[in-house]
Amino acid sequence: MHEMGIAQELVQIALDSIPGEIENPKVITVNLKIGKLASVVEHSLTFCFEIITKDTPLEGARLNIDFVPVMVHCKFCDNNWEVTGPVFKCPFCEDGDVEMITGREIEITSLELTE
Ligand SMILES: [Zn+2]
Repeated sequence: MHEMGIAQELVQIALDSIPGEIENPKVITVNLKIGKLASVVEHSLTFCFEIITKDTPLEGARLNIDFVPVMVHCKFCDNNWEVTGPVFKCPFCEDGDVEMITGREIEITSLELTE
């Protein structure tokens, strides 16, 4: 289950970004951005997150995941489009020289803490 490693990394980043001057910090929501190609299963990630965050300021926090579509760019005709299938070929000029712009990211966008 690769979600365990992802959850551990995210928890570490989240803990590191809690401002040090806050006494007894408590995170209520973790806002995440996850690319559709990162193949993260939401309920697995939530499950791992709950285990890892026990007895930390993140315990009980909700994961608010924003799934990012897979967007690619054609270097030849300069078009951008969303890919929904496995084919990575430009539908405009039929060229195969395309690069991925979004779709693989796993990032924390913000943390919401209690006052
Ligand atoms: Zn093209």
